[in-house]
Amino acid sequence: MGGFGSGGWNATGRPTTADLPQLDVNRLNKSGVLHQGYRGVLGWRGVDGEVRMNITTRSDHISLEGASDGSNRIDVIWFSWEPCRFGGRRPFFFCPGCGQRVVHLYRRGHFACRTCNDLSYPSQRERESDRAQRRANRIRRRLGGESGWLNVPSRPKWMHLSTYERSVNEILAADEITNRHVSRYI
Ligand SMILES: [Zn+2]
Repeated sequence: MGGFGSGGWNATGRPTTADLPQLDVNRLNKSGVLHQGYRGVLGWRGVDGEVRMNITTRSDHISLEGASDGSNRIDVIWFSWEPCRFGGRRPFFFCPGCGQRVVHLYRRGHFACRTCNDLSYPSQRERESDRAQRRANRIRRRLGGESGWLNVPSRPKWMHLSTYERSVNEILAADEITNRHVSRYI
């Protein structure tokens, strides 16, 4: 659970998103952590040693209590659910620092988004995500829609269903790459 990269600070000494203990709202959701009443332990291992936190989930927030750093502070992280175009819903965190909706939070003393923590991206991953989004945006515009992560245009009347479905799959695949590599989109 959690997910700590191989660590290592980049050449500028500025940490990247891969260097810090990370919370990914989609991974937590898939693991059932966002269910109200969930209780468990999250662990990360990295350059600062091991971090273990007790997690408790309520209907709209999680509480994280870290014993490993000797503090008794409890981190409270609010989340919400946003409807998806094709039904269902997906979760977002609210960054405790700036209140923006984000998919990832990073723990640098306390949890906050990439921007609040002044993190850079690992450049390779950033390039992969940019490439994926440029490709997806071309498809979005071909469908008569607007550019932008998570944006899936509806089917133009002139387009065959099978072509449309293939286009949507390409968009979703690109978004999945972005989802894995980028912490803050909107
Ligand atoms: Zn923030």
